[in-house]
Amino acid sequence: MAARSSRTGAREEGGSRRELIDPADLEAAAQRLGIEQLHAEQEDVLGGVFAGRDVLMVLPTGFGKSACYQIPSMVLPQPVLVISPLLALMRDQEEKLLARDIPVVRLDGTVRGKKRVAAFERIASGGPLLVMTTPETADAPELGEALEKSGISLVAVDEAHCISEWGHDFRPAYRRLGPRLRELGGPPVLALTATATPHVRESIVKTLRMRDPVVVADSPHRDNLAFEVLWCEGDARLRALVRLVRRLRRPGIVYCTTTREVDEVYTILRRFKVPATRYHGKMTAAERNKEQASFMRRGRRSVMIATNAFGLGIDKSDIRYVLHAQGPASLEQYVQEAGRGGRDGRRANAILLFDEANRAVHELLLARSRVRPDQLYRLGSALSAWADEGRAPSLEALALSADMGPRITAALLATLEEAGLVRRQRGVEEIEILCPPDSIEQEARTLASQFERLKREDSRRLDAVAAYADAGRCRAQFLQDYFGEDEGEPCGLCDACLQKSERPSSFFAPIFNPNPPKRKKPRSGKGRGRGRGRGQGQRGEGQRGEGQRAEGRSGESRRGGRRRRGGRAASAQGSDEAKTQTHEAGADGASVDGARRRRGRRGGRRRGRRGGRGRPRGDPRNESNDEPRPEGDGACTMVRVN
Ligand SMILES: [Zn+2]
Repeated sequence: MAARSSRTGAREEGGSRRELIDPADLEAAAQRLGIEQLHAEQEDVLGGVFAGRDVLMVLPTGFGKSACYQIPSMVLPQPVLVISPLLALMRDQEEKLLARDIPVVRLDGTVRGKKRVAAFERIASGGPLLVMTTPETADAPELGEALEKSGISLVAVDEAHCISEWGHDFRPAYRRLGPRLRELGGPPVLALTATATPHVRESIVKTLRMRDPVVVADSPHRDNLAFEVLWCEGDARLRALVRLVRRLRRPGIVYCTTTREVDEVYTILRRFKVPATRYHGKMTAAERNKEQASFMRRGRRSVMIATNAFGLGIDKSDIRYVLHAQGPASLEQYVQEAGRGGRDGRRANAILLFDEANRAVHELLLARSRVRPDQLYRLGSALSAWADEGRAPSLEALALSADMGPRITAALLATLEEAGLVRRQRGVEEIEILCPPDSIEQEARTLASQFERLKREDSRRLDAVAAYADAGRCRAQFLQDYFGEDEGEPCGLCDACLQKSERPSSFFAPIFNPNPPKRKKPRSGKGRGRGRGRGQGQRGEGQRGEGQRAEGRSGESRRGGRRRRGGRAASAQGSDEAKTQTHEAGADGASVDGARRRRGRRGGRRRGRRGGRGRPRGDPRNESNDEPRPEGDGACTMVRVN
């Protein structure tokens, strides 16, 4: 490793700790982690850390942020405390570090009994050590005592954006970190996040009381990512997805918003013989691990269909595309997920299939998952009333006095517990108020107002996704602008920079299934003939993503990749064509033949119109030869993707 020590020592004016760090130690530490060459950004962060400065690191995934606290934990004389909400990632890191014989202690709610005692003892004995914990456990008095004995070289706050209600992933447990750091004697702080708008950055610095921090930030995307947006509605979206997945180079990831859509897309792709794996929260842990291991296998070129549960800590560098089947809930989420493509530095596609109607799905999901401020406020008042009487209520009694169901009350209590305001102990019925009793109402109100802001910001973030989809300019520049970075030069890779022409209507048309299941004898008189209504015939699997709406059934598509200003006339024509085809899709073999002939004719016209584009055959941008051709005689079936 060429540890560029000149850079490493670039920011030493804030302290003198730099002199204690021998570049050879730094090099040895990096090598123990298997790092041959540090990124310039990593060196900047380490430079700040070793100079004793506070550092705010805003770097997209793939920059090896964990090395920025792991290396100091081996080099600095006292333990480095890492606070992260991601249990699975911590476990994974612990295993890897232990395998490399690097001193590490993990301490979270799952470490109990003798193991917990041993962990505290190890921490108290001090020396170079990485202590990984959660925001909740960071509050444990025993940890404070152990760290008081050992001293702390550095506190690294991972996923630091969770501290801010302006961010997309606010967590109440992070509210306690500011005061906690002061209790721990105000050690130097390294705050790490993959994405943060200027507002969120300010919030992090203020809440953690960082002192004149060194900010190491990079553009929210890498210059090998080719961004593209396709506007498509309803069923057309799924058809475009299948066409893209069949043509783009694998391995790739397809992100869906709901578990239901993951299953639907997975089923369809398997039918088209695309090697696909899937991952979502409703599968068992064993199923998820198996699918993930299959996808991660070296040299395997498959597609992972997943919800946003997939991808944290995924270290697969050769992902050639990340395709979003729906608009994400925020651009923060989008750049993180899209950034999982092309980590090897080679070109990768980041494609978003955008349908305005999908916003409703996000609104529904957010309404379900977010705490309701008014309910939180009510609970705070009820708790305050109990506290005034000097009594501790049970869950049932509290629910009654707050006039809410016990389930909602329990969920809200969990939020208050995360924020460190109350405690519920196993086997104890009474709810214990941890803050001064006369301040519980005010504390709950403050927390409620943070959730109120979070809710408002959710809506603004969805607006930002729509604005990105509709941006008539370089998408990379748009993203850089959003994240408060210098826009720089146009990327030269996105659909806007390349001035990509509109996708032809065939791109959104129903697809013939080249691998039809064995035909069963049709049952007579069950509405299988031509007279069958369009609405039934085109359903195929009968599974509809939650976000698909009635309008989608018409097959109407908003084509044109970059923007919707594709001309109404063209759109209407596309709609009519699609309608004709979906109608035929529901019919029997003879009608399918008719559909094929018609498609053939249209395809011919299109080829004429679009001829001479000069892209190589198979290029994903070249859709004119994209029709999956039905095989054999008239025995093919359609309808799977409609
Ligand atoms: Zn561009």
